[in-house]
Amino acid sequence: MHYISTRGFGPVNFRTTVLDGLAPDGGLYVPASYPKFSREELEELSFLSYEDIADKIMSPFIGDSVPSDILSQIIKTAYGKFNDIEVTPLIQYEEDTWIMELFHGPTFAFKDIAMQFLGPILEYTLGEEGTNATVIGATSGDTGPAAIEGLKNSDNINVFMLYPHNRTSAIQRMQMTTSGSQNIFPIAIEGTFDDCQNIVKELFSDLAFKEKINATSINSISWARLLPQMVYYFFAWSRLRDVVPGKEISFSVPTGNFGDAFAGYLAMQCGLPIKSILVATNSNDILTRFINNNDYSSHAVKPTRSPSMDIQIASNFERLLFDIYGRDSDVLKHAMREFKQHKALPKINDLQIDETRSIFSAESISEVDTLKMMSESDFTHNILIDPHTAVGLAAAKKHPELKPIVSLATAHPLKFPSALKEATAKELLFDDELDKMMKTEEVFDILPPDAELVRQYILDNL
Ligand SMILES: *Cc1c(COP(=O)(O)O)cnc(C)c1O
Repeated sequence: MHYISTRGFGPVNFRTTVLDGLAPDGGLYVPASYPKFSREELEELSFLSYEDIADKIMSPFIGDSVPSDILSQIIKTAYGKFNDIEVTPLIQYEEDTWIMELFHGPTFAFKDIAMQFLGPILEYTLGEEGTNATVIGATSGDTGPAAIEGLKNSDNINVFMLYPHNRTSAIQRMQMTTSGSQNIFPIAIEGTFDDCQNIVKELFSDLAFKEKINATSINSISWARLLPQMVYYFFAWSRLRDVVPGKEISFSVPTGNFGDAFAGYLAMQCGLPIKSILVATNSNDILTRFINNNDYSSHAVKPTRSPSMDIQIASNFERLLFDIYGRDSDVLKHAMREFKQHKALPKINDLQIDETRSIFSAESISEVDTLKMMSESDFTHNILIDPHTAVGLAAAKKHPELKPIVSLATAHPLKFPSALKEATAKELLFDDELDKMMKTEEVFDILPPDAELVRQYILDNL
């Protein structure tokens, strides 16, 4: 399997996509062609565990970049840490509607599915190259804990994770500061999440520094982070195909950076019979406007109760756009330049928009409807859901024509306690987990929002 950059670079193998993250020409890596699974191969998935499905689906994408016994071991270890034997269990919500819970990993957020895989894959790949790497990241709360869980105790990776001091929830902070691992350096920045991001950007733009510490990022554009997210679409289909015989299934996907929804699209390209992928956004609705109105223009970010989807430029969207443009990187580059200049993409033509709509549906959900959905789910089904999950489920409710549908649950309701309380008047506590974290000493440093000081701190701690 080879990969090419959306902006023309390549071909490279899987290993290079892991080491590079972003392609050297600024584009995103995509498979040079999509492998196809036959109907027979798909039907056999019904007899396999989640881990074995992951192995089957991901192997063709990885090729000989990782030996198959090592890949199997990485998959078993990664998903063995999930607290549900099915890994991403399906819960029936009502007739022809299921919730797939993606939050059974170590930090109770769906980012664990990707990070538990990416961490060991990166560690293995660096080991083969005989090099070390430094991960520098900025987090508002969800990605940081998942990344730290995925990378802790690694011998050849140091992690510097910047988060806004006193602006994450206590659970999120403790998930980052109590890893007890020598290679993890949580840094509380006296500023906002934007300050953290700007510092990381500034450090990454200093190429000499970047090279010196072999800096790498694990943000959502990394191919090896996207790949494991394909698996649960196949898993869901394998468990439901006999329950809804002869019917095509849709998925409702709470979307921010378009990683999760794009993984569903990938599954479809590889032969999984999906009826539609319903892109569910909060009031930050750039993707919904694109699919429904052919309008991809960036507005100011509005803070919502589903903060992990408060995004106005969906970084993975370029991968879809590349396919929409018939994989012509010149057209794509031109469009991205336009976007940079005018904060809007040129409109795509009628054929292209029809094709897009034959795959994706889209719905944007207001704050009021998000809370209503959380309360309704509790009241009528006795199921507590978090605000991100509520956006997906509310979108599914507005599209009964897409049934049977699986709505993705991307975070445990406990991770967003204030929204939960607002919607349902309920409070939840992870007693055991919290208790364990409370008893572990928190290790972190506090720095002012100053890239120079962060750079020095990193050099001092390597
Ligand atoms: C990251 C995240 C999302 C959005 O996923 P994308 O792949 O960025 O679209 C949704 N819900 C939660 C809880 C998340 O952490």
